[in-house]
Amino acid sequence: MATVLLTGATGYIASHTWLALWAAGFDVVGVDDFRNSSPQVLERLAELGGRTPVFERADVGDAAAVNALLDRHRIDATVHFAALKAVGESAEVPLAYYRNNLGGLFTVCEALRARRIGRFVFSSSATVYGEPERLPLVETSRVGATSPYGRTKLMGEQILGDLATADAGWQNAILRYFNPVGAHASGRIGEDPRGTPNNLMPYVSQVAVGRRASLSVWGNDYDTPDGTGVRDYIHVCDLAEGHVAAVQRLLDAPGSFTVNLGTGRGHSVLDVVAAFAAASGRAIPYEIRPRRPGDVAACWADPGLAEQLLGWRATRDLASMCADAWRWQSHNPNGYDT
Ligand code: UDP
Repeated sequence: MATVLLTGATGYIASHTWLALWAAGFDVVGVDDFRNSSPQVLERLAELGGRTPVFERADVGDAAAVNALLDRHRIDATVHFAALKAVGESAEVPLAYYRNNLGGLFTVCEALRARRIGRFVFSSSATVYGEPERLPLVETSRVGATSPYGRTKLMGEQILGDLATADAGWQNAILRYFNPVGAHASGRIGEDPRGTPNNLMPYVSQVAVGRRASLSVWGNDYDTPDGTGVRDYIHVCDLAEGHVAAVQRLLDAPGSFTVNLGTGRGHSVLDVVAAFAAASGRAIPYEIRPRRPGDVAACWADPGLAEQLLGWRATRDLASMCADAWRWQSHNPNGYDT
């Protein structure tokens, strides 16, 4: 059975991917330095998976640590999640974003290349498309990220593309995530942002549970059906299964690919508020505020290429995303520190 290295392994998407890989029969070696996640995740994974997670605490920017752990474990493929991900913060501290996101990528790729471990899955983002020219977004749509965070993802894709061109033994699966939300159906793992959430669903969850008074809706004058921003929200468990399919494809077939991981459906901010209120039975007070700088009106995927290449598509709807996010939030009102 193949073993998959997960960097940033105790983060939100990675922890769900860890469980999905186990469920598909893979072994996993996880690496994280807990700078943005909790060690509690490992206990929850052990409980849900019925096995002990193999875990190494390390910073992926630390070449000696990465090389040492690769000497200890036999790895067949890597899923590289480790990165900083706050769009707004990236504009305030761009060097930290370039250093972490690109420096970590270099360190991990160099260590893997030295060992000829060439199957590499990269966490990219729909943010690489910037302002969409037309919808839905296809993988050949024009790219042009508008934040330092987005540019670290776009540059990461380009660096990996150059690597695959130069090295016949290197294969990339570049996964452009749309808006991951929800939680594992058990309610035992989920998204646990530090401080005030930047993203819509965790903010709405914290309003529903009473941790925050009201949601600010960033603009209701967009050219969308109800004037609020439209996004392609995807259940984190669907996204996790997309990673498993991508790893399997790298093992089964030569070559590299870039795919959107989305549902193909857009929902507005007010759709999310209504769906979350229905799922939780709680009121979600909100106020309309000015647009948030850098936001686009609407963004959704054409997920057809992922279905064609990977035999994968998202199956969980917005009601299930909200129900699962609410189960996680209501059972763990303070996240992993509950
Ligand atoms: N949004 C909002 N209030 C918030 C957070 C987000 O109205 O507190 C809106 C945001 O303007 C966008 C959508 O919700 O239209 C999704 O934003 P999020 O930050 O979750 O993801 P993005 O697509 O920006 O990466």
